Amino acid sequence: MAFNALTSEKPNAVCMPFPAQGHINPMLKLAKLLHFKGFHITFVNTEFIHKRLLKSQGPNSLNDLPTFRFETIPDGLPPADANVAAQHMPSLCQSIRKHCLQPLRGLLSKLNSSPNSPPVTCVVSDGIMNFSLDAAQELGIPGVIFWTTSACAFMGYIQYGPLIQKGLVPLKDASYLANGYLDTVIPSIYCIGPLYLQLDHIPADNELKSIGSNLWTEETECLQWLDSKEPNSVVYVNFGSSTVMTSEQLTEFAWGLANSNKAFFWVIRPDLVGEGKSVVVAPEFVEETKGRGLLASWCPQEQVLSHPAIGGFLTHSGWNSTIESVGGGVPMICWPFNADQQTNCRYCCSEWGIGLEIEGDVKRYYIEGLVRKLMEGEEGKKLRKIALEWKKLAKEATTGSNGSSFLDLDQMVNRVLLSPR
Ligand code: UDP
Repeated sequence: MAFNALTSEKPNAVCMPFPAQGHINPMLKLAKLLHFKGFHITFVNTEFIHKRLLKSQGPNSLNDLPTFRFETIPDGLPPADANVAAQHMPSLCQSIRKHCLQPLRGLLSKLNSSPNSPPVTCVVSDGIMNFSLDAAQELGIPGVIFWTTSACAFMGYIQYGPLIQKGLVPLKDASYLANGYLDTVIPSIYCIGPLYLQLDHIPADNELKSIGSNLWTEETECLQWLDSKEPNSVVYVNFGSSTVMTSEQLTEFAWGLANSNKAFFWVIRPDLVGEGKSVVVAPEFVEETKGRGLLASWCPQEQVLSHPAIGGFLTHSGWNSTIESVGGGVPMICWPFNADQQTNCRYCCSEWGIGLEIEGDVKRYYIEGLVRKLMEGEEGKKLRKIALEWKKLAKEATTGSNGSSFLDLDQMVNRVLLSPR
């Protein structure tokens, strides 16, 4: 369908993710879906991220497929060791804005004169990498901006500029909350998530399945451990790829989990505690929770969240984690950290009825109470029931041939990416 019958060349979509785990994951999924629809894919990583991917997934893990290629551009920051877990976000954003357009132009012109790939026909750019659309425009080819956040968080982002210009934010007093100000400003929006559910359309033996996007090596033993647990009995705890906390907060979470007496699976990234401090888990905690607590440093989260043993998710409310929890029908305890996470948390807890929020300080008795509420209380049962309804809706939107996300992806491809030059 996406094949050009005249030149027998595939359309070549250049996919430009923002270089962070929560953005690379959804972009890779979208790229796989486009490949499945007949596109040649050029997936552009920053050099730093590409090194990290090769390190976590093995030196031969990328660029095995002739029609799904990886390319790199520099991010403009001084070279960093691939052992460094995460880059400094504000410097990275600033550097990307200043330095990435030029190397991308160079890459596009290299691709256009290469005998090994079809000419570039469209660009799919993460919302934060929107300089890529300038490059697309210069070549006269179509582009789409791929927002990897929720629609509600996106509404928040696009209003920052106008709100500041109108003097409405920062809010001067509570009366400013009452003013209506919001316009509908985006002409064509395609809602295509949750993408990981759309990937079910691609057969399990498809060659794309081997391409992964984890920046840390997955520890998969947890899946066997979960197999040994009762349905809905385990609390899964994971704060994503970049949230950091203090050692005191880590200790309070640990003892809250221990005192709840529930089984838990807790992923503690080596850099979870900020300021370069190493994570120390008290031996007394490990001893106290023996047999019912499992620790790891990175896991196959989508599989974990769809495992029947998982009954609740203590999360930082990253958007990917949120939709993976929705897709698994798992209610959440939300501890938002930054970016769109507060918005996601608000929607989960106040609008969609699938979350409990940690408000104020992290204290062990409070965490213990919330975990018990979620895992054994009436409120927890109600949240789980609603979460299962959302799971059904997410599945219908993505996997049914009349599903709204399924149809929107098709329309985005046909109306935008394959539109004539
Ligand atoms: N993730 C994972 N294993 C882990 C932790 C996270 O595979 O142990 C994945 C998770 O499935 C999600 C992404 O990393 O797709 C995290 O994205 P999210 O938007 O939730 O949070 P961020 O890391 O951007 O704060």
